[in-house]
Amino acid sequence: MQKADFIDRIVIYVKGGKGGDGSASFRHEKYVPKGGPDGGDGGNGGYVFLKANPNLSTLLSVSEKKKYIAENGENGKGKKMHGRNGKDVVIDVPVGTVVKDFETGEIIADLDKPGMVVCVARGGKGGRGNVHFKSSTMRAPKISERGFEGEERRLVLELKLLADVGLVGYPNVGKSSFISKISNAKPKIANYPFTTIIPNLGVVTVNELQFVVADIPGLIKGASKGAGLGNVFLRHVERCSVIAHIIDISGMEGRDPVQDYFDIRNELEHFSNELAQKEEIIIANKIDLISKEELEKRLEELRKETGKQIFPTSIITGEGIEKVVYKLAEIVKESKKFHTQSEVVNEQIKRPKPLWKELPERFNIEIIKEGNDFIVTGTYVEEWAKRLNLNQKDGYRKFMELLEKNGLEKKLKEAGIKDGDTVWVAQRAFEYKE
Ligand code: GDP
Ligand code: MG
Repeated sequence: MQKADFIDRIVIYVKGGKGGDGSASFRHEKYVPKGGPDGGDGGNGGYVFLKANPNLSTLLSVSEKKKYIAENGENGKGKKMHGRNGKDVVIDVPVGTVVKDFETGEIIADLDKPGMVVCVARGGKGGRGNVHFKSSTMRAPKISERGFEGEERRLVLELKLLADVGLVGYPNVGKSSFISKISNAKPKIANYPFTTIIPNLGVVTVNELQFVVADIPGLIKGASKGAGLGNVFLRHVERCSVIAHIIDISGMEGRDPVQDYFDIRNELEHFSNELAQKEEIIIANKIDLISKEELEKRLEELRKETGKQIFPTSIITGEGIEKVVYKLAEIVKESKKFHTQSEVVNEQIKRPKPLWKELPERFNIEIIKEGNDFIVTGTYVEEWAKRLNLNQKDGYRKFMELLEKNGLEKKLKEAGIKDGDTVWVAQRAFEYKE
């Protein structure tokens, strides 16, 4: 039976910033009583990007926030001043993160190389200022466009968890205790879903670095001859950077710690030669159960026999734990550097055009008749009502001009309008005159 890989999966909401509104301003100059329009355009809204960061091993840090919203663009200003573009948001995710659209399930990106960047939400385009609306009929247009809303979507981020540290050791030496101890060292990890679901996986955060520690169960004497024991985990731990070999230095169960060590080593070599060749440290656990003198004697013997670096610990008192964790972090970090240097892609960030919907077809003007009321609606109407500020002096005028130019009159007639009937456009009413 093949068990599925452990998937770290979270859902986040991302939104690009709104574009700034255009400005409807006029030149103020000495000796020029009525200057022309000089309202600048609004800045574009910021974008949201995901970036593959080789220092991360899980989606833990991403899951600390549910929403990622980029900054809005600044409004345009007088003197044709363009508003500042909104700041982007760049979310660091672990290498290997697959990004999907929550609604459609479509795969947006597979960030499988360190340094890869993908845009997940575009900012909205800034609205145009009144300099763009000057015409022979409108010499002093008090009108400007609104900025566009940024793109928003929910994303599913999925990551196949790969262990950075593989834990081995006889049963009862303290592997599970070790994992829960170091994972609980950071309280926020306690809330992280998979640590509770999968007890033999732990996530450790040391400074900027995150790494995954996984128990390789079933690795007892004779295990490699047993069918499939631990195979589920093999793929999962094969790429780890370091083996942490735990032994019970107290020998309280009547076994010899040195012999234990070699038994497990032997199994490891049969189990996976690749794993056996990894860097290894020894954790001599349960030091609280023996005297200092006895401990020194046993550590000395172990050092002599194995030639490995040894870290005495007690999970009960906490002694020595921090030191091991820092050592593991150091090895993992080095190894990640080594693995990633060659593959780092320094992608030029691809920045698609800001969001600015194509205008709906101009024939999308509809009339709904209710008695003597004629309601003007349709996507063309709705879009322009959003895009223009109808409270501006020329905003509504421009809006009506656009509708008229695109057949409003004809459509009203077709709907049977008569003199004196009421026309509703964008929540305003006026009387129809032939
Ligand atoms: P595993 O089988 O390797 O996962 O070992 P566990 O983590 O389940 O630990 C087995 C037993 O050893 C449990 O009763 C633990 O409480 C105990 N234990 C683990 N670490 C220590 C330690 O440092 N000191 C003492 N005295 N007991 C420990
Ligand atoms: Mg256990």
